Amino acid sequence: MAEMTAVAWHGRGDVRVGPWPLADAPPAGWVRLRVAWCGLCGSDVTEYACGPVVIPRAPLVLGHEIAGTDAATGAAMVTDTLIGCGTCTHCRAGDVNLCTRLRAAGLSADGGLADYVDVPAESCVPVPDGLPLDVAALAEPLAVAVRAVRRAGPLDDAEVVVLGAGTVGLLVAILLPAPPVLVERRPEQRDLAARLTAARVVDTLPASGDGKVVAFECTGSADALNALIAALPAHSRIVLAGVHGRRTPTDLHTLLHRELEFVGSLSHSRADMRRAVEVLAADPGRFAPLVTHRIGWSDVPDALRDLAGAHPTAGKVLAGPRGDRWTT
Ligand SMILES: [Zn+2]
Ligand SMILES: [Zn+2]
Repeated sequence: MAEMTAVAWHGRGDVRVGPWPLADAPPAGWVRLRVAWCGLCGSDVTEYACGPVVIPRAPLVLGHEIAGTDAATGAAMVTDTLIGCGTCTHCRAGDVNLCTRLRAAGLSADGGLADYVDVPAESCVPVPDGLPLDVAALAEPLAVAVRAVRRAGPLDDAEVVVLGAGTVGLLVAILLPAPPVLVERRPEQRDLAARLTAARVVDTLPASGDGKVVAFECTGSADALNALIAALPAHSRIVLAGVHGRRTPTDLHTLLHRELEFVGSLSHSRADMRRAVEVLAADPGRFAPLVTHRIGWSDVPDALRDLAGAHPTAGKVLAGPRGDRWTT
């Protein structure tokens, strides 16, 4: 069996770069992508610092924000990385994110921080001419934002608040039809948000009036979620796009007494991914500044260690076979 280079999770605080077996061919119905760029996600940092959270085995190749080329045809592709059972109601409707037997490349199956990754053909979306592969690597997190805005439903004349200026929060703020209030406590992320979005960027949740608020929770922080519940006026809606632990304590009393609405938004569907590619292709220059680092495979462990530390870097970190050195 041939070998490639891959970045694999071996345990908490233990991510290694090294040779990895490369099967002769992808399984039937799958394609092999030659990876150009793969983004590092907050969930990769969480697995590095506190894992295993969703990782089922070690070692496992990380990476689920993948852009590359079809190894057989050379066509530029992104993948939504979702591996459904293919037969349940949700899979057949394209809502693979809701499949009860869902796996995802880079989280529960081997992913894209490697020279090659095998993914289901139906998970791939062609990258149009004019959309560079480094910007195309933002398609997966953008699809998460596309879904969150879709799941929010009509915004009407509600005040719109986004909690968290990580990649998904920034992308939600960019996608919204009118500039929201964007709440972020980290100064570097506030600077980035002010440059990249038209949002009113603040460091704490502003006091609301009586009017309804639609709030996008993009932090995954239980404290942020509970502060939000405590602050929202009656009939406000919370779109839960951040990934929360299994037993986040939540104030159901306030939820009931203000008749708050809670909407989950998990990952993305196939349609959300196609929409994300359309949005990127329409204006790549709008999204390119989100990418602040393009590093090589060998520097990924150092980057994950620093991103898990006290002063994470501001933008999206991409890794690839021909990236630069990691510097903060
Ligand atoms: Zn992610
Ligand atoms: Zn299924």
